[in-house]
Amino acid sequence: MFKKPHIWGFLLRKSMQNSFLIIVILLIFQIGISSSSWEGSRDETVSLLKEYIDINTSNPPGDVRKAVWWIGKLLDKHSIDYQTFTVEEDPMRMHLLAEIKGYNNNLKPLLLLNHMDVVPADKQAWSVDPFKASVVDSVIYGRGSLDMKGMGIMQLMTLIQLKKEGWKPERTVKVLCVADEEVLGEYGAKWMIENHWDLLDPEWVWDEGGIGSKDSFPGVEVFAVAVAQKKSLWVDVIVKSISGHGSRPFDGHSNQVLANALSKIVSWKTPIDINVATNEMFKRVGFKIKGLNGFILRNINNPLLKYFFGSKVAKSSVSVNAMLRNTVSLTIMDSGYKVNVIPEIAKASLDIRLLPSQDSEEFINQLKVVINDSRVQIVPKRVPEQGYISSWESTFFSILSEEINHLYRQSVVTPFMSPGGTDSQYFQSKGVDCYGIIPVLVHEADIQTIHGINERISIQNLMNGYRIVYNTVKRVCGSNK
Ligand SMILES: [Zn+2]
Repeated sequence: MFKKPHIWGFLLRKSMQNSFLIIVILLIFQIGISSSSWEGSRDETVSLLKEYIDINTSNPPGDVRKAVWWIGKLLDKHSIDYQTFTVEEDPMRMHLLAEIKGYNNNLKPLLLLNHMDVVPADKQAWSVDPFKASVVDSVIYGRGSLDMKGMGIMQLMTLIQLKKEGWKPERTVKVLCVADEEVLGEYGAKWMIENHWDLLDPEWVWDEGGIGSKDSFPGVEVFAVAVAQKKSLWVDVIVKSISGHGSRPFDGHSNQVLANALSKIVSWKTPIDINVATNEMFKRVGFKIKGLNGFILRNINNPLLKYFFGSKVAKSSVSVNAMLRNTVSLTIMDSGYKVNVIPEIAKASLDIRLLPSQDSEEFINQLKVVINDSRVQIVPKRVPEQGYISSWESTFFSILSEEINHLYRQSVVTPFMSPGGTDSQYFQSKGVDCYGIIPVLVHEADIQTIHGINERISIQNLMNGYRIVYNTVKRVCGSNK
């Protein structure tokens, strides 16, 4: 539907000879935007993203009110229906739900999800002002450009464009802009689900979680769509003993016991476990890689190959390692208060990320076996929801894949399990199939700017992403009645 202009010219000439073709072409024109229209909406799309980035929604403190007002004004201008929601306990937290209503009430909506808050940015470390968007060499710089105000704009522009066309879909499409994702807060998507499920209840959710990468796998462009995510289990490791003077140490004091336990924890190699989503990703990527490496990836779940090559594959990157096993990161050590005092309590915190099928309690028991010291207590601080893997055999996934491949013909589109968490987890715990991808193709170096410095999105990526969102929504929600 987005052929270059000369193709249109060719088709038009042919159509002179054939009235049937004229009708077909008219239909095609009706259901898609021509290339020149994309060019025409480029300036509008870019300036909207710049305005959006300029609204500082850093979390903490996570005040998104200005963003909600700004989006509301934009939707008003285009007569698109929406509602806003204020969290009473914390009125800085607001959400916005917009929609284009479908005529078939038997179909549940497609929900496009984005978060308005961003992580804070250290202005000194950036080469530009993170909260004053700037364009350098056709690349837009600013906090949230990738995560995820850029995708918010792709979704909003899609609604605006479809509204302009007078589109009447069969299936309702909704855009939900939420607060508080960056702290996985109580008052974000979770609050909307708990308080307004009747307004959401989607068939599918399209969220962030994956991205298109040029160089995460050597020689293959991969669009990884998150269908599952690791679960966060946060625990404290606590040891209590008697205190004492630093000049007279004794065996079994709190810091000594804790240090021994932590030493065992950080050197623990958890077993490799390749779940269905990761296996599917390796299979799809493996088909694009020649030679032995491709063969190993394709067949990594073969017990023999897993035994001999599993650890080697895990070592290829920290991200791959995180996909293949439960991981434990020692993130906080907090023991003692004076250099000459042996403290009575020693404490550390672990950020544990579990594979979707791993039971939390069972994992804590395994951890206790590794520590093998009854003086060490494990206290859970945050226990995750049950894991869920979305189906990649859905209509949504196949249309999304086709639309990505329409623009990026050489790329592999694959389901994958994200090592990090997103708001999808709350929808997945309600049994909804969620798909996480920001539809842009970038380098690893660009991915590092998410939550890092000099976050950016190229205008080309912004426009291509918008096209993918637009085309996918139009086909998934269907019809032109
Ligand atoms: Zn995000």
